[in-house]
Amino acid sequence: MSSPLLERARAVIPGGVNSPVRAFRAVGGTPIFARRAEGAYLHTSDGRRLVDFCMSFGPLILGHAPLEVLAAMGEAAARGTSFAVTTEAEIELAEEIVSAIPSVDRVRLVNSGTEACMTALRIARAATGRHRILKFSGGYHGHVDALLVRAGSGVVGLAEASSAGVPREWAQQTLVARFNHIEDVARLLGQYGHETAAVILEPIPANAGLIPPAPGFLRAVADRAAAAGALLIWDEVITGFRFGWGSVQTIEPGNIRPDLICLGKIIGGGLPVGAVGGRAAFMDLLAPEGPVYQAGTLSGNPVSVAAGLATLRRLKAERPWPELERRTCAYVSELQRLASAVGLPLSFAVRGSLFSVIFAEAPPACFEDIPPTQSEHFRPLFQELLAGGVYLPPSAFEVAFLSTAHTDAVLESTLPVWRRALESLASARHDGSVGGG
Ligand SMILES: *Cc1c(COP(=O)(O)O)cnc(C)c1O
Repeated sequence: MSSPLLERARAVIPGGVNSPVRAFRAVGGTPIFARRAEGAYLHTSDGRRLVDFCMSFGPLILGHAPLEVLAAMGEAAARGTSFAVTTEAEIELAEEIVSAIPSVDRVRLVNSGTEACMTALRIARAATGRHRILKFSGGYHGHVDALLVRAGSGVVGLAEASSAGVPREWAQQTLVARFNHIEDVARLLGQYGHETAAVILEPIPANAGLIPPAPGFLRAVADRAAAAGALLIWDEVITGFRFGWGSVQTIEPGNIRPDLICLGKIIGGGLPVGAVGGRAAFMDLLAPEGPVYQAGTLSGNPVSVAAGLATLRRLKAERPWPELERRTCAYVSELQRLASAVGLPLSFAVRGSLFSVIFAEAPPACFEDIPPTQSEHFRPLFQELLAGGVYLPPSAFEVAFLSTAHTDAVLESTLPVWRRALESLASARHDGSVGGG
């Protein structure tokens, strides 16, 4: 399918998009073009108003265009949009992060979550003098070469590149384990531990549906990494400030203190930001203090920092997390009820203000548990919802995001759309027009 804007975009931008998931290849149909947004609503260029559950994939915990964030950005921009010298606001943002996250003594701001992960790996490799990285299948850490990999033929073990242009030798620096399978970690570190610089994970994976860590799993991974002399890197680009003030380390039991953590999304308040933080001994390996080179013309950009600070300060003052979780849980139980009423075997995973929809009887414990038919089943659900004005992330594996602007009234307004979509899916199943499984 096409549209005049899509034609124009495709003539000058690869695929018409600046990030691939926006092209809707995973869900089919014509990608939407945004004109503006406010609160929980996204307005498209063809004049439709959608209830947005994608929310830019995570930064917008206060909804689209919150007034005090806009005001802070405007004031900052009026003073100058880039100086390439340090500002007091950068110190303030770093102070907020350091005071919020126990494992973080120092933090360096970068421009994206990808950069944060890339920098964390470089620090880990410098700190250990080792080259290998252990990651988990379904974990996303940006488009860093060493992390743009999938499990090789053996599922567990040396990785294969999941993108063209990543040399095989680089992909093979990475080891892949299944999340919630500590025996994989034990086996891989048993074999490659002496060469492993870091174990990197999303402590609550949110890029392959939403996967809750099994009790004790995060602690066991931390202990195994420490025993192997590898650094523990928590990628909290989504989870940072999403479930509470700071990191998952303050809300999950086990008192785990990762050596490095990666942040992004919420700490930029909707502008481009990432951050890597950790203990001083590791962070001071970064130039100019130490030998690990890392730099950025626009790093610590005053407008991004102003948006991030305004967002964190409102979160700190209002502490909206329990209310966000209450709303999300209530909403998801309604959705679960609607799905059961029409006999669809859907399972919803929910944590804080995130939820995911999996076409299986039970929520997955690792990426491999997600049925291979997930995308095929998700596509018609996504399209029916979109037609009714409800916009889920355009991929079967992305989680849905709520914000403080998703009030009970907004959420309730979407229930009839869900009901119709689920009914239509259920009747398509009966007609056999969607494969079983
Ligand atoms: C989004 C994301 C990234 C990448 O951040 P970008 O700003 O898109 O580069 C890294 N890790 C996780 C867990 C993410 O969700």
